Amino acid sequence: MNQYDVIVVGAGNGGLAAAAKTAKEGYKTLLLEKHNLPGGCATSFRRGRFEFEPSLHELCHYCTAEELASTENIFEELGIDVPLAKESTVFRTISRGEDGYDVTLRTGDEAFLDDLEAAVPGCRESAAAFLKLNDELDDAMRYTEKNPIPNPAVLMSKYSTFLRVASHSTDEVMDAMGIPKKAQSILGTYWGYLGVPTDELNGLHYLSLLCAYLRGRPSMPYHRSHELSLALVKNIQENGGEIRYNSEVTKFLYDENGVTIGVCCGEQRFYAKPIISNIIPHNVFNRSDNRKINQRMRKLANARRFGMSVVTVYLGLDCTMEELGVKDYSVFVQSDNNSRVQFNDCKDGFGMYIVNCLNRVIPDCTPEGTCTLFFTIPVFPGQFPEKMAPQEYKAYKNDLARKYIEDYEKLMGISIIPHIEEISIAPPRDLRPLSRHAGGHHLRL
Ligand SMILES: Cc1cc2nc3c(=O)[nH]c(=O)nc-3n(C[C@H](O)[C@H](O)[C@H](O)COP(=O)(O)OP(=O)(O)OC[C@H]3O[C@@H](n4cnc5c(N)ncnc54)[C@H](O)[C@@H]3O)c2cc1C
Repeated sequence: MNQYDVIVVGAGNGGLAAAAKTAKEGYKTLLLEKHNLPGGCATSFRRGRFEFEPSLHELCHYCTAEELASTENIFEELGIDVPLAKESTVFRTISRGEDGYDVTLRTGDEAFLDDLEAAVPGCRESAAAFLKLNDELDDAMRYTEKNPIPNPAVLMSKYSTFLRVASHSTDEVMDAMGIPKKAQSILGTYWGYLGVPTDELNGLHYLSLLCAYLRGRPSMPYHRSHELSLALVKNIQENGGEIRYNSEVTKFLYDENGVTIGVCCGEQRFYAKPIISNIIPHNVFNRSDNRKINQRMRKLANARRFGMSVVTVYLGLDCTMEELGVKDYSVFVQSDNNSRVQFNDCKDGFGMYIVNCLNRVIPDCTPEGTCTLFFTIPVFPGQFPEKMAPQEYKAYKNDLARKYIEDYEKLMGISIIPHIEEISIAPPRDLRPLSRHAGGHHLRL
Protein backbone atom coordinates (compact mmCIF):
# COMPACT_ATOMS: atom_id res chain seq x y z
CA MET A 1 0.00 0.00 0.00
CA ASN A 2 2.88 2.33 0.74
CA GLN A 3 4.66 1.29 -2.44
CA TYR A 4 4.78 3.79 -5.31
CA ASP A 5 6.55 3.99 -8.67
CA VAL A 6 7.88 7.46 -7.86
CA ILE A 7 7.99 9.59 -4.72
CA VAL A 8 8.55 13.33 -5.10
CA VAL A 9 9.64 15.28 -2.02
CA GLY A 10 8.56 18.93 -1.82
CA ALA A 11 5.62 20.54 -3.61
CA GLY A 12 7.40 23.67 -4.83
CA ASN A 13 7.12 24.42 -8.55
CA GLY A 14 9.94 21.96 -9.26
CA GLY A 15 8.31 19.09 -7.34
CA LEU A 16 4.85 19.89 -8.71
CA ALA A 17 6.13 19.86 -12.29
CA ALA A 18 8.05 16.61 -11.69
CA ALA A 19 5.04 14.89 -10.09
CA ALA A 20 2.74 16.18 -12.86
CA LYS A 21 5.05 14.67 -15.47
CA THR A 22 5.38 11.24 -13.79
CA ALA A 23 1.63 11.05 -13.02
CA LYS A 24 0.80 11.97 -16.62
CA GLU A 25 3.12 9.25 -17.86
CA GLY A 26 1.17 6.72 -15.80
CA TYR A 27 3.55 6.20 -12.89
CA LYS A 28 1.95 5.71 -9.48
CA THR A 29 3.15 8.98 -7.95
CA LEU A 30 3.24 10.25 -4.37
CA LEU A 31 4.11 13.90 -3.67
CA LEU A 32 5.02 14.73 -0.05
CA GLU A 33 4.95 18.33 1.21
CA LYS A 34 5.75 19.48 4.72
CA HIS A 35 3.67 22.66 4.49
CA ASN A 36 -0.14 22.71 4.41
CA LEU A 37 -0.08 24.37 0.97
CA PRO A 38 1.56 23.67 -2.40
CA GLY A 39 3.87 26.11 -4.19
CA GLY A 40 6.91 26.52 -1.91
CA CYS A 41 8.46 29.90 -2.77
CA ALA A 42 5.81 30.40 -5.46
CA THR A 43 2.67 31.14 -3.49
CA SER A 44 0.72 34.17 -2.21
CA PHE A 45 -0.43 35.62 1.10
CA ARG A 46 -3.00 38.15 2.25
CA ARG A 47 -2.70 41.23 4.43
CA GLY A 48 -5.93 43.16 4.81
CA ARG A 49 -7.42 43.69 1.35
CA PHE A 50 -4.16 42.93 -0.50
CA GLU A 51 -2.89 39.61 -1.85
CA PHE A 52 0.89 39.66 -2.20
CA GLU A 53 3.20 37.59 -4.37
CA PRO A 54 6.05 36.65 -2.01
CA SER A 55 8.82 35.81 -4.45
CA LEU A 56 8.12 35.80 -8.16
CA HIS A 57 8.99 39.02 -9.96
CA GLU A 58 8.49 37.54 -13.38
CA LEU A 59 8.47 34.19 -15.12
CA CYS A 60 11.00 33.83 -17.88
CA HIS A 61 11.23 31.56 -20.91
CA TYR A 62 7.56 32.04 -21.65
CA CYS A 63 8.43 31.91 -25.29
CA THR A 64 7.74 30.07 -28.52
CA ALA A 65 7.72 26.29 -28.52
CA GLU A 66 10.95 26.23 -30.55
CA GLU A 67 12.93 28.00 -27.83
CA LEU A 68 15.01 25.94 -25.47
CA ALA A 69 13.48 25.35 -22.01
CA SER A 70 10.23 27.04 -22.94
CA THR A 71 7.90 27.27 -19.93
CA GLU A 72 5.03 27.33 -22.42
CA ASN A 73 6.16 23.93 -23.73
CA ILE A 74 6.06 22.44 -20.23
CA PHE A 75 2.52 23.77 -19.66
CA GLU A 76 1.35 22.60 -23.07
CA GLU A 77 2.79 19.15 -22.58
CA LEU A 78 1.02 18.83 -19.22
CA GLY A 79 -2.21 20.32 -20.55
CA ILE A 80 -2.12 23.25 -18.15
CA ASP A 81 -3.66 26.54 -19.17
CA VAL A 82 -2.80 29.40 -16.81
CA PRO A 83 -3.29 32.80 -18.45
CA LEU A 84 -0.22 34.96 -18.07
CA ALA A 85 0.10 38.73 -18.31
CA LYS A 86 3.16 39.86 -20.27
CA GLU A 87 5.27 42.94 -19.67
CA SER A 88 6.62 44.96 -22.59
CA THR A 89 9.78 46.21 -20.87
CA VAL A 90 12.67 44.13 -19.57
CA PHE A 91 13.56 46.61 -16.83
CA ARG A 92 14.32 50.21 -15.96
CA THR A 93 17.87 50.36 -14.69
CA ILE A 94 19.33 53.28 -12.76
CA SER A 95 22.98 53.68 -11.86
CA ARG A 96 24.03 56.43 -9.49
CA GLY A 97 27.72 55.92 -10.22
CA GLU A 98 30.04 58.13 -12.17
CA ASP A 99 28.76 58.28 -15.77
CA GLY A 100 25.56 56.72 -14.43
CA TYR A 101 22.32 56.20 -16.34
CA ASP A 102 18.57 55.88 -16.13
CA VAL A 103 17.40 53.66 -18.99
CA THR A 104 14.27 51.65 -19.73
CA LEU A 105 14.74 48.76 -22.11
CA ARG A 106 11.90 47.18 -24.06
CA THR A 107 11.54 43.48 -24.84
CA GLY A 108 12.41 41.99 -28.24
CA ASP A 109 15.92 42.14 -29.72
CA GLU A 110 15.35 45.15 -31.99
CA ALA A 111 13.58 47.37 -29.46
CA PHE A 112 16.06 46.35 -26.74
CA LEU A 113 19.03 47.22 -28.95
CA ASP A 114 17.41 50.52 -30.03
CA ASP A 115 17.03 51.53 -26.38
CA LEU A 116 20.57 50.46 -25.55
CA GLU A 117 21.97 52.38 -28.54
CA ALA A 118 20.07 55.51 -27.48
CA ALA A 119 21.68 55.27 -24.03
CA VAL A 120 25.18 54.38 -25.26
CA PRO A 121 25.63 55.52 -28.87
CA GLY A 122 27.81 53.18 -30.92
CA CYS A 123 27.15 50.00 -28.89
CA ARG A 124 24.46 48.43 -31.07
CA GLU A 125 26.59 46.21 -33.27
CA SER A 126 28.64 44.63 -30.50
CA ALA A 127 25.58 44.22 -28.25
CA ALA A 128 23.65 42.57 -31.12
CA ALA A 129 26.52 40.13 -31.65
CA PHE A 130 26.41 39.33 -27.92
CA LEU A 131 22.68 38.50 -28.10
CA LYS A 132 23.18 36.48 -31.26
CA LEU A 133 25.73 34.37 -29.41
CA ASN A 134 22.81 32.97 -27.46
CA ASP A 135 21.47 31.21 -30.58
CA GLU A 136 24.76 29.40 -31.03
CA LEU A 137 24.84 28.48 -27.37
CA ASP A 138 21.26 27.18 -27.54
CA ASP A 139 22.20 24.93 -30.47
CA ALA A 140 25.09 23.53 -28.46
CA MET A 141 22.86 23.00 -25.41
CA ARG A 142 20.36 21.13 -27.59
CA TYR A 143 23.16 18.91 -28.85
CA THR A 144 24.43 18.17 -25.31
CA GLU A 145 20.87 17.50 -24.14
CA LYS A 146 20.40 14.91 -26.87
CA ASN A 147 23.92 13.52 -26.39
CA PRO A 148 24.70 13.30 -22.66
CA ILE A 149 28.18 12.02 -23.56
CA PRO A 150 29.01 14.49 -26.33
CA ASN A 151 31.48 13.67 -29.05
CA PRO A 152 34.50 16.01 -28.54
CA ALA A 153 35.14 16.15 -32.31
CA VAL A 154 31.55 17.33 -32.95
CA LEU A 155 31.80 19.84 -30.14
CA MET A 156 35.04 21.25 -31.52
CA SER A 157 33.93 21.42 -35.12
CA LYS A 158 30.27 22.47 -34.76
CA TYR A 159 30.09 24.16 -31.38
CA SER A 160 33.45 25.83 -30.94
CA THR A 161 31.86 29.10 -29.76
CA PHE A 162 30.17 27.20 -26.95
CA LEU A 163 33.51 25.70 -25.92
CA ARG A 164 35.18 29.12 -26.04
CA VAL A 165 32.48 30.91 -24.03
CA ALA A 166 31.61 28.19 -21.53
CA SER A 167 34.50 28.84 -19.17
CA HIS A 168 34.49 32.65 -19.24
CA SER A 169 32.84 35.27 -17.07
CA THR A 170 30.16 37.61 -18.43
CA ASP A 171 32.64 40.53 -18.33
CA GLU A 172 35.25 38.56 -20.25
CA VAL A 173 32.74 37.65 -22.96
CA MET A 174 31.43 41.22 -23.26
CA ASP A 175 35.01 42.59 -23.34
CA ALA A 176 35.94 40.11 -26.07
CA MET A 177 32.97 41.30 -28.12
CA GLY A 178 34.06 44.93 -27.77
CA ILE A 179 30.95 46.14 -25.94
CA PRO A 180 31.52 49.59 -24.36
CA LYS A 181 31.73 49.45 -20.55
CA LYS A 182 28.61 51.53 -19.95
CA ALA A 183 26.56 49.26 -22.22
CA GLN A 184 28.08 46.24 -20.43
CA SER A 185 26.82 47.66 -17.16
CA ILE A 186 23.27 48.07 -18.52
CA LEU A 187 23.32 44.60 -20.11
CA GLY A 188 24.54 43.16 -16.79
CA THR A 189 21.64 44.56 -14.75
CA TYR A 190 20.14 41.11 -14.02
CA TRP A 191 23.29 39.90 -12.19
CA GLY A 192 21.40 40.26 -8.90
CA TYR A 193 18.93 37.56 -9.95
CA LEU A 194 21.83 35.11 -9.92
CA GLY A 195 23.60 36.72 -6.94
CA VAL A 196 27.05 36.85 -8.53
CA PRO A 197 28.69 39.98 -10.03
CA THR A 198 29.44 39.86 -13.76
CA ASP A 199 33.22 39.57 -13.33
CA GLU A 200 32.63 36.13 -11.78
CA LEU A 201 29.27 35.16 -13.28
CA ASN A 202 29.47 32.61 -16.09
CA GLY A 203 28.87 34.33 -19.44
CA LEU A 204 26.80 31.49 -20.84
CA HIS A 205 24.45 31.36 -17.84
CA TYR A 206 23.99 35.09 -17.79
CA LEU A 207 23.33 35.44 -21.50
CA SER A 208 20.70 32.70 -21.44
CA LEU A 209 18.94 34.42 -18.51
CA LEU A 210 18.97 37.81 -20.23
CA CYS A 211 17.64 36.36 -23.50
CA ALA A 212 15.01 34.31 -21.63
CA TYR A 213 13.46 37.60 -20.46
CA LEU A 214 14.05 39.89 -23.39
CA ARG A 215 12.92 37.38 -26.03
CA GLY A 216 10.17 35.56 -24.11
CA ARG A 217 8.91 38.66 -22.27
CA PRO A 218 8.60 38.76 -18.45
CA SER A 219 5.27 37.10 -17.54
CA MET A 220 3.09 36.88 -14.45
CA PRO A 221 0.09 34.66 -13.61
CA TYR A 222 -3.01 36.88 -13.28
CA HIS A 223 -3.82 35.46 -9.85
CA ARG A 224 -0.30 35.25 -8.41
CA SER A 225 1.85 32.14 -8.60
CA HIS A 226 -0.52 30.30 -6.27
CA GLU A 227 -2.77 29.94 -9.33
CA LEU A 228 0.06 28.13 -11.07
CA SER A 229 0.60 25.78 -8.13
CA LEU A 230 -3.12 24.98 -7.94
CA ALA A 231 -3.25 24.24 -11.67
CA LEU A 232 -0.36 21.78 -11.24
CA VAL A 233 -2.06 20.18 -8.21
CA LYS A 234 -5.28 19.68 -10.20
CA ASN A 235 -3.30 18.17 -13.05
CA ILE A 236 -1.47 15.71 -10.78
CA GLN A 237 -4.69 14.60 -9.13
CA GLU A 238 -6.54 14.25 -12.44
CA ASN A 239 -3.79 11.91 -13.58
CA GLY A 240 -4.10 9.75 -10.46
CA GLY A 241 -1.20 11.21 -8.48
CA GLU A 242 -1.49 11.47 -4.69
CA ILE A 243 -0.44 14.55 -2.71
CA ARG A 244 0.02 14.55 1.05
CA TYR A 245 0.42 17.88 2.83
CA ASN A 246 1.72 18.33 6.39
CA SER A 247 4.02 15.44 5.53
CA GLU A 248 7.63 16.35 6.22
CA VAL A 249 10.13 13.78 5.03
CA THR A 250 12.29 13.16 8.07
CA LYS A 251 14.50 10.42 6.65
CA PHE A 252 15.63 9.07 3.28
CA LEU A 253 16.02 5.27 3.12
CA TYR A 254 18.76 3.52 1.12
CA ASP A 255 19.56 -0.03 0.06
CA GLU A 256 22.97 -1.61 0.68
CA ASN A 257 24.30 -0.03 -2.56
CA GLY A 258 23.44 3.48 -1.50
CA VAL A 259 20.40 3.74 -3.78
CA THR A 260 17.31 5.47 -2.34
CA ILE A 261 14.40 3.10 -1.84
CA GLY A 262 11.99 5.12 0.27
CA VAL A 263 11.35 7.88 2.80
CA CYS A 264 10.00 8.27 6.34
CA CYS A 265 7.48 10.89 7.39
CA GLY A 266 7.76 10.55 11.13
CA GLU A 267 6.50 7.04 11.87
CA GLN A 268 5.21 6.37 8.36
CA ARG A 269 7.30 4.77 5.61
CA PHE A 270 6.78 5.07 1.86
CA TYR A 271 8.72 3.14 -0.75
CA ALA A 272 9.65 3.83 -4.37
CA LYS A 273 12.50 3.80 -6.82
CA PRO A 274 13.28 6.50 -7.73
CA ILE A 275 12.84 9.30 -5.21
CA ILE A 276 12.84 12.76 -6.78
CA SER A 277 13.92 15.38 -4.29
CA ASN A 278 12.83 19.00 -4.68
CA ILE A 279 14.61 20.07 -1.50
CA ILE A 280 18.18 21.30 -1.27
CA PRO A 281 20.92 18.63 -1.07
CA HIS A 282 21.94 19.76 2.44
CA ASN A 283 18.49 18.87 3.72
CA VAL A 284 18.53 15.51 1.96
CA PHE A 285 21.94 14.63 3.37
CA ASN A 286 20.99 15.76 6.86
CA ARG A 287 18.08 13.32 6.66
CA SER A 288 20.20 10.43 5.40
CA ASP A 289 22.58 7.88 6.83
CA ASN A 290 25.88 9.64 6.16
CA ARG A 291 27.61 6.43 5.08
CA LYS A 292 25.17 6.01 2.21
CA ILE A 293 25.92 9.35 0.59
CA ASN A 294 28.22 9.26 -2.39
CA GLN A 295 31.56 10.75 -1.32
CA ARG A 296 31.71 13.15 -4.27
CA MET A 297 28.25 14.50 -3.46
CA ARG A 298 29.24 14.98 0.19
CA LYS A 299 32.38 16.87 -0.80
CA LEU A 300 30.41 19.03 -3.21
CA ALA A 301 27.85 19.87 -0.52
CA ASN A 302 30.57 20.76 1.97
CA ALA A 303 32.37 22.91 -0.59
CA ARG A 304 29.32 25.08 -1.27
CA ARG A 305 29.00 28.47 0.34
CA PHE A 306 25.59 30.01 0.87
CA GLY A 307 25.37 33.05 -1.32
CA MET A 308 23.25 36.16 -1.47
CA SER A 309 19.81 36.16 0.09
CA VAL A 310 17.10 38.83 0.13
CA VAL A 311 14.86 40.80 2.43
CA THR A 312 11.54 41.51 0.77
CA VAL A 313 9.19 44.34 1.67
CA TYR A 314 5.57 44.20 0.46
CA LEU A 315 3.52 47.36 0.48
CA GLY A 316 -0.22 47.79 -0.01
CA LEU A 317 -0.82 51.48 -0.79
CA ASP A 318 -4.05 53.47 -0.54
CA CYS A 319 -3.58 55.19 -3.92
CA THR A 320 -3.19 54.16 -7.55
CA MET A 321 0.21 53.83 -9.21
CA GLU A 322 -0.65 56.90 -11.31
CA GLU A 323 -1.44 58.94 -8.18
CA LEU A 324 1.83 57.71 -6.66
CA GLY A 325 3.76 58.69 -9.81
CA VAL A 326 5.02 55.19 -10.60
CA LYS A 327 5.23 54.13 -14.26
CA ASP A 328 7.46 51.08 -14.32
CA TYR A 329 7.08 47.41 -13.50
CA SER A 330 10.66 46.55 -12.60
CA VAL A 331 13.22 49.15 -11.45
CA PHE A 332 16.81 48.19 -10.58
CA VAL A 333 18.57 50.81 -8.45
CA GLN A 334 22.35 50.50 -8.43
CA SER A 335 25.13 52.36 -6.62
CA ASP A 336 27.67 52.14 -9.42
CA ASN A 337 28.13 51.02 -13.03
CA ASN A 338 30.37 48.17 -11.88
CA SER A 339 28.50 45.15 -10.53
CA ARG A 340 31.39 44.14 -8.25
CA VAL A 341 31.17 47.57 -6.58
CA GLN A 342 27.37 47.15 -6.29
CA PHE A 343 27.87 43.69 -4.78
CA ASN A 344 30.31 45.03 -2.18
CA ASP A 345 28.08 48.03 -1.45
CA CYS A 346 25.14 45.66 -0.76
CA LYS A 347 26.85 44.66 2.48
CA ASP A 348 26.45 48.06 4.10
CA GLY A 349 24.67 50.42 1.74
CA PHE A 350 22.36 50.70 -1.24
CA GLY A 351 24.49 48.54 -3.57
CA MET A 352 21.51 47.26 -5.53
CA TYR A 353 17.83 46.81 -4.91
CA ILE A 354 14.76 46.15 -7.05
CA VAL A 355 11.29 47.69 -6.84
CA ASN A 356 8.32 46.13 -8.64
CA CYS A 357 4.82 47.45 -9.19
CA LEU A 358 2.58 44.56 -10.24
CA ASN A 359 -0.27 46.94 -11.17
CA ARG A 360 1.70 47.92 -14.26
CA VAL A 361 1.35 44.34 -15.61
CA ILE A 362 -1.95 43.41 -13.95
CA PRO A 363 -3.83 46.68 -13.29
CA ASP A 364 -6.55 45.08 -11.14
CA CYS A 365 -4.21 42.96 -8.98
CA THR A 366 -5.18 45.18 -6.01
CA PRO A 367 -8.58 46.71 -5.05
CA GLU A 368 -9.75 49.78 -6.96
CA GLY A 369 -7.94 52.97 -5.95
CA THR A 370 -4.92 51.11 -4.54
CA CYS A 371 -1.62 49.68 -5.73
CA THR A 372 1.25 47.58 -4.48
CA LEU A 373 5.04 47.89 -4.41
CA PHE A 374 7.48 45.05 -3.74
CA PHE A 375 11.08 45.81 -2.65
CA THR A 376 13.79 43.16 -3.03
CA ILE A 377 16.92 43.94 -1.01
CA PRO A 378 20.03 41.69 -1.25
CA VAL A 379 21.62 40.61 2.03
CA PHE A 380 24.46 38.25 2.89
CA PRO A 381 24.95 35.50 5.47
CA GLY A 382 26.34 36.96 8.69
CA GLN A 383 25.19 40.50 7.83
CA PHE A 384 22.56 40.59 10.56
CA PRO A 385 23.19 41.14 14.24
CA GLU A 386 23.12 37.83 16.08
CA LYS A 387 20.59 36.83 18.72
CA MET A 388 18.27 39.80 18.64
CA ALA A 389 15.56 40.09 21.25
CA PRO A 390 12.01 40.29 19.84
CA GLN A 391 11.71 44.08 20.17
CA GLU A 392 15.15 44.62 18.62
CA TYR A 393 14.16 42.33 15.75
CA LYS A 394 11.00 44.32 15.10
CA ALA A 395 12.92 47.63 15.19
CA TYR A 396 15.66 46.21 12.98
CA LYS A 397 13.21 45.09 10.31
CA ASN A 398 11.32 48.38 10.40
CA ASP A 399 14.51 50.45 10.16
CA LEU A 400 15.76 48.42 7.23
CA ALA A 401 12.47 48.78 5.33
CA ARG A 402 12.24 52.50 6.13
CA LYS A 403 15.81 53.10 4.91
CA TYR A 404 15.07 51.63 1.48
CA ILE A 405 11.60 53.12 1.10
CA GLU A 406 12.95 56.58 1.94
CA ASP A 407 15.84 56.13 -0.49
CA TYR A 408 13.40 55.22 -3.26
CA GLU A 409 11.10 58.13 -2.40
CA LYS A 410 14.03 60.52 -2.69
CA LEU A 411 15.37 58.97 -5.89
CA MET A 412 12.00 58.98 -7.69
CA GLY A 413 10.64 62.18 -6.12
CA ILE A 414 7.52 60.39 -4.86
CA SER A 415 5.86 60.00 -1.48
CA ILE A 416 5.20 56.40 -0.38
CA ILE A 417 5.17 56.26 3.43
CA PRO A 418 1.95 58.30 3.99
CA HIS A 419 0.13 55.88 1.64
CA ILE A 420 1.10 52.63 3.37
CA GLU A 421 -2.02 50.71 4.32
CA GLU A 422 -0.35 47.33 4.70
CA ILE A 423 3.30 46.39 5.07
CA SER A 424 4.95 43.05 5.46
CA ILE A 425 8.71 42.62 5.83
CA ALA A 426 10.18 39.19 5.12
CA PRO A 427 13.80 38.65 6.12
CA PRO A 428 15.78 35.48 5.33
CA ARG A 429 16.01 32.69 7.86
CA ASP A 430 19.24 33.81 9.51
CA LEU A 431 17.51 36.96 10.75
CA ARG A 432 15.29 35.47 13.41
CA PRO A 433 14.17 36.66 16.77
CA LEU A 434 14.89 34.62 19.88
CA SER A 435 11.19 33.91 20.33
CA ARG A 436 9.23 32.21 17.54
CA HIS A 437 6.34 34.63 17.86
CA ALA A 438 8.31 37.81 18.11
CA GLY A 439 8.34 40.66 15.68
CA GLY A 440 5.36 39.57 13.65
CA HIS A 441 5.10 40.04 9.93
CA HIS A 442 2.56 42.76 9.95
CA LEU A 443 4.37 45.89 10.98
CA ARG A 444 3.41 49.50 10.48
CA LEU A 445 6.02 52.14 9.87
C1 LIG B 1 12.37 36.75 -3.14
C2 LIG B 1 12.45 35.82 -4.30
C3 LIG B 1 12.24 36.30 -5.59
C4 LIG B 1 12.26 35.43 -6.68
N1 LIG B 1 12.02 35.91 -7.93
C5 LIG B 1 11.94 35.08 -9.00
C6 LIG B 1 11.59 35.54 -10.29
O1 LIG B 1 11.32 36.69 -10.48
N2 LIG B 1 11.54 34.65 -11.31
C7 LIG B 1 11.82 33.33 -11.13
O2 LIG B 1 11.74 32.55 -12.09
N3 LIG B 1 12.16 32.86 -9.92
C8 LIG B 1 12.22 33.70 -8.85
N4 LIG B 1 12.56 33.24 -7.62
C9 LIG B 1 12.94 31.85 -7.49
C10 LIG B 1 11.75 30.92 -7.52
O3 LIG B 1 10.72 31.40 -6.68
C11 LIG B 1 12.27 29.60 -7.03
O4 LIG B 1 13.42 29.22 -7.75
C12 LIG B 1 11.27 28.49 -7.21
O5 LIG B 1 9.99 28.86 -6.76
C13 LIG B 1 11.84 27.32 -6.42
O6 LIG B 1 11.02 26.22 -6.61
P1 LIG B 1 11.45 24.83 -6.07
O7 LIG B 1 10.30 23.94 -6.32
O8 LIG B 1 12.75 24.42 -6.62
O9 LIG B 1 11.72 25.02 -4.50
P2 LIG B 1 10.79 25.55 -3.32
O10 LIG B 1 9.79 26.51 -3.82
O11 LIG B 1 11.71 25.97 -2.23
O12 LIG B 1 10.01 24.24 -2.88
C14 LIG B 1 10.52 23.31 -1.98
C15 LIG B 1 9.34 22.68 -1.28
O13 LIG B 1 9.80 21.61 -0.49
C16 LIG B 1 9.13 21.61 0.75
N5 LIG B 1 10.00 20.90 1.71
C17 LIG B 1 11.19 21.28 2.23
N6 LIG B 1 11.68 20.33 3.02
C18 LIG B 1 10.80 19.31 2.99
C19 LIG B 1 10.77 18.02 3.62
N7 LIG B 1 11.75 17.59 4.40
N8 LIG B 1 9.69 17.23 3.39
C20 LIG B 1 8.66 17.62 2.57
N9 LIG B 1 8.65 18.84 1.96
C21 LIG B 1 9.73 19.66 2.15
C22 LIG B 1 8.98 23.09 1.07
O14 LIG B 1 7.96 23.33 2.03
C23 LIG B 1 8.62 23.64 -0.32
O15 LIG B 1 7.25 23.62 -0.56
C24 LIG B 1 12.54 34.07 -6.49
C25 LIG B 1 12.76 33.57 -5.19
C26 LIG B 1 12.70 34.43 -4.11
C27 LIG B 1 12.91 33.85 -2.72
